[in-house]
Amino acid sequence: MAMPKNMITKPMKRPSDLIGVINGKIPSELLVPIGKRGSFMHHTAARGWRCLMWHLTPQLARLGADDWDLASVDPRTFQRQWEIYDGRTYPGSGRYLPESMWAAHEAKGGTWGKRDNGSIEVDLWQSPGRPTIERWRRMAGNAMAAIPGTSPHGLALAVDLALDDDEDAIADPITEAVVRFLMENDLALNCGFAWSTPSEPWHLQWFMGDIIPEFVLAWERLMGEHPPLPPTDPQIPTNPLPKSGLELIGMYTISVRYGPGHAKYRITAKEVIHEVNGDAANIDKDAGVNELEVGWEGLVALLASRRSVGNPFRINGEPRTDGWFDANLDRHWEAARNNPA
Ligand SMILES: [Zn+2]
Repeated sequence: MAMPKNMITKPMKRPSDLIGVINGKIPSELLVPIGKRGSFMHHTAARGWRCLMWHLTPQLARLGADDWDLASVDPRTFQRQWEIYDGRTYPGSGRYLPESMWAAHEAKGGTWGKRDNGSIEVDLWQSPGRPTIERWRRMAGNAMAAIPGTSPHGLALAVDLALDDDEDAIADPITEAVVRFLMENDLALNCGFAWSTPSEPWHLQWFMGDIIPEFVLAWERLMGEHPPLPPTDPQIPTNPLPKSGLELIGMYTISVRYGPGHAKYRITAKEVIHEVNGDAANIDKDAGVNELEVGWEGLVALLASRRSVGNPFRINGEPRTDGWFDANLDRHWEAARNNPA
């Protein structure tokens, strides 16, 4: 299988709410779930990812696979990066060897991994538990790995795309046909993802920082899709929400703001349908805009209270132009149901 060599490579770019965040230690409120391996991605990159996978998935049968998958769990912790890099406990059981072990490796006929430009790859890194900074080389036959603490996988901005092309639960390698599809018409690039090196066609990383590509925005508008929300806190508080005199039944709109901090969610009741004898009636658009600044827990509590009222939860509204979005809360309604207070 000949993988293409002309993929566009671009450096990963951090969204502003990841600046200052320690690699491998992403606050969970910045992450949303993707894929099937318990993987999470930064919420901004996840918007591009959803768009990219939406385009890829219907083509997979034609390209010879059942579904897409991921080769590992993201974000990668520092411990996991360390394990991959040098084996963590036993240097030599990972992909890279310290200088003191180079001669032994060569004596066994071992050779070294090279960079794309042909030079032997040498890193400087002090492995935890080892006394000094050492030079490290990658053993040939292993994929490159970032020096622990520097991997794009530790910032939830990169994934190693794999496939699911049989019955078992093990991820199968990405194929040339799929890589070419991602390159066609700049599909991956248009979704905000590029490669980091042609030698790793499976590795895609977010290069747009805070910017959502126009291609993704257009897709979201077309699909009525909304940005994914951070995962629901499983602890549903029992305190009722303040209702400010507004009867929170029927249909209303919840707007969720994404931005640095992520502490506040605004709930705006724009339309209230009063129930009359069990039927929705009397749509009152002037029922009052009820803006509540609540934390994520408050949002979950609201959904839990909706369940207790017994009304189906519905969403109303369009993506906005002012930086707020009407959230897709179906999933979170389900989450509230699955985690009764
Ligand atoms: Zn990777």
